[in-house]
Amino acid sequence: MKFINLTRDTEIGANSYYLEIAGHRLVLDCGMHPRNVGEEALPDFRAIKDRQLDAILISHGHQDHIGTLPVLMRRQPHARVFMTETTAEIGSALLHNSVNVMTRQREELGTAQYPLFTHRETDSHTDRWRWCPLRQRITIAGERAAACDLDGFTFEFFDAGHVLGSTGILLRAEGRTIFYTGDVNFDDQTIMSAAIFPQDKIDILVMECTRGDHAKPENWTRAGEERRLAAAIEEAFQRSASVLIPVFALGKTQENLAMLCKFRRENLLRDFPTYIGGLSAKMTEIYDRRAGMSRRQWPRLQLLQDIDPFVLNGQNIHDAPARAGHVYALSSGMMTPKTLSNIFARRIVENPRQSIFFVGYADPESPAGILRNARPGELVVLDPDEPAQTVRCHIGQFQFSAHASRETLIDYAKKLSPKKIVLVHGDPRAVEWMRAKLTVDLPGAEVIVPTPGVELEL
Ligand SMILES: [Zn+2]
Ligand SMILES: [Zn+2]
Repeated sequence: MKFINLTRDTEIGANSYYLEIAGHRLVLDCGMHPRNVGEEALPDFRAIKDRQLDAILISHGHQDHIGTLPVLMRRQPHARVFMTETTAEIGSALLHNSVNVMTRQREELGTAQYPLFTHRETDSHTDRWRWCPLRQRITIAGERAAACDLDGFTFEFFDAGHVLGSTGILLRAEGRTIFYTGDVNFDDQTIMSAAIFPQDKIDILVMECTRGDHAKPENWTRAGEERRLAAAIEEAFQRSASVLIPVFALGKTQENLAMLCKFRRENLLRDFPTYIGGLSAKMTEIYDRRAGMSRRQWPRLQLLQDIDPFVLNGQNIHDAPARAGHVYALSSGMMTPKTLSNIFARRIVENPRQSIFFVGYADPESPAGILRNARPGELVVLDPDEPAQTVRCHIGQFQFSAHASRETLIDYAKKLSPKKIVLVHGDPRAVEWMRAKLTVDLPGAEVIVPTPGVELEL
């Protein structure tokens, strides 16, 4: 079995992993880097350029896992593409949005090769995606594996509890098993229910490490954190502030809207206007439409109906004043320059009355990462095309990650007790903490941090 990490660094960038197993050549995920532009935003496909892929398996619809799939499909026209039906619906909306973003960036950044793919190409590609149900063994031909096939190569999607449609993928061949967690959460969120992952022994575990450098705070509970957020919003409203919450369009937006619904129902907060972005609205529609069909909390909750949010876009954001007593749950979560959350943050960051609340992961080098770590009075550059600004607004930090805590990841690895553990999807410090801890806790396992671009024999 061969494995190549196709990311450009040990980081949460453009996730993509090559796997050769029982004579089949596969790629797991095909993301777009959240900060890099142009060719650098793609995974590094040099190591596989002379290999013809049989299949591409997508774990979920976040940009860093599906964002450059049309480019890989163009380069690998014979590869079959597999994902859940929900991820297909989400992925199609995300990729079309990405074409619009790249078309705009072509002018703003002068990136001549943008857009990396077109609307037409995205449409013709999505027609070729094959939808797989959860918990069913599928063959490389895309068929449900018959009992007599069970010795051959199969893959199976498991609910990862991270965002709608998210999965981990179990691959079986030649009597060996390899499990890729994708992005996972082993705890319930406000909407998503915890992952249901394989519990039996497996041979190789490829595991995400997003929160590897964060210890779970003593006494942390999600319910307690929800109350703390409600109190912070109330306190901000008391001083006539508007509240900006930078969120990812997929997952974080819907979890936050659900919390706001809950706060109103529990009379923790009065009714107040809420604003979201256009892609967030599309993703929320998919959450609402699939509410009754997916395994989740609050299956009858219809977010758009309950919250009735105003939708902001690249044009009307410039005329939208920061109104007192209103909540702006805007993407992007990392506050990438020119996105709604970045434009809005630059408008309020120097005003001591206003509030910005962070509710999840942000790359430490992204504008959101820089701002959340800034001290009051510090100068920050949130957009390289704009002047530096002094941080004077209230900054709040809340822990509502859509990713598993490092403690639950370690527990899971111990339960499966694999022979080899491959650590991916983490910043260097996060991966290093996980490597050191697993080496001590599982002395029989080989713990591997895969060097990008280097072929490993597993
Ligand atoms: Zn994700
Ligand atoms: Zn991810």
